[in-house]
Amino acid sequence: MRVDLRSDTVTTPSQSMRELMAQAPVGDDVYGEDPTVNALEERVAAMFGKEAAVFTPSGSLANQLGVRILVAPGEELLTETNSHIVRAELGGSAVFGGITTRTWQAARGLLRASDALEIARPNSGPYMVSTTAIAVENTHNFGGGTIQPIEEIALLRKESLGLGLSMHLDGARIWNAHIASGVSFLEYGKHFDTISICFSKGLGAPVGSAMLSTKANVTRARVWRKRYGSGMRQVGILAAAAHYALDTNLPLLSHDHRRAQFLAKRAHSVAPSTIDPALVDTNIVALDLRELPVTAAEFVEMVAPEGVLIGAFGTNFARIVTHLDIDDAAMEYAADVIADALKRTLMSK
Ligand SMILES: *Cc1c(COP(=O)(O)O)cnc(C)c1O
Repeated sequence: MRVDLRSDTVTTPSQSMRELMAQAPVGDDVYGEDPTVNALEERVAAMFGKEAAVFTPSGSLANQLGVRILVAPGEELLTETNSHIVRAELGGSAVFGGITTRTWQAARGLLRASDALEIARPNSGPYMVSTTAIAVENTHNFGGGTIQPIEEIALLRKESLGLGLSMHLDGARIWNAHIASGVSFLEYGKHFDTISICFSKGLGAPVGSAMLSTKANVTRARVWRKRYGSGMRQVGILAAAAHYALDTNLPLLSHDHRRAQFLAKRAHSVAPSTIDPALVDTNIVALDLRELPVTAAEFVEMVAPEGVLIGAFGTNFARIVTHLDIDDAAMEYAADVIADALKRTLMSK
């Protein structure tokens, strides 16, 4: 059996998703004439209470568009140390936007408004860099799928508005946060000026993200999307996959969360120091291997021969992500393999 738990990006489009894609009405999206793309943009903007949205080929581009709309060259974006925008977008904000970043560090990536506010330096005059925006990642990927508390988001919004700062949401997995917390998309959306969302993670579309904001901001973002070389033509076939994902796959995320809990409990029962199941909020399980005589890379190699693929994050963390293409049988098999590898590691101690 092969069970790929490296990421929720590894899903492949189902037959019924492919059929809907094949039937999608299309047009030239650079001319704004693809009806399926237009409907998707209107749909997701409305879901989050925003005026408009722009469809993008990647979540990184959706983030970069959002951030560059809010922050001018030479100005500063604040975010958490292990957030995707600063760790996994290859310096995009700096390279394309001339934007500098400064970070605060938070265990599990968990947002506390005070952490961001303490380092915010708006209107810093002619000597120091001025902060103009704060980015929040929800759920926090490298933090282990952490849901950001809505109270902290609301507090950060209130305080940062008072400082004249804008807020960007990296909502690649906002779907998981909503399903697990019950907080509505409108409630999440209202605290942010720009939002990126992603259809190709837990939702299982083959490609596609979007940036949501005001009409004026999205009009500007469309210019930048084209300038970045990402104007797309008859991409209604991809937007159709996103529509399908929202209709059919969104409610299924609760199963991913249940399976992540199952795995976390299993790992905890064998090696309690590796995971606290109560801290597994959504579909990502970050096994902490610091107290075991094995590195993350070695642990990945221990389970790979059994067909279980997991990721290493840093030296000591193994990242396991549940998704649409993992059913209960696959999860039980993977949990057996992982539990067995943990036992063998403990015995070698
Ligand atoms: C995956 C991801 C993105 C976007 O990634 P792409 O691979 O560019 O689509 C953005 N933010 C987070 C938190 C992610 O996990």
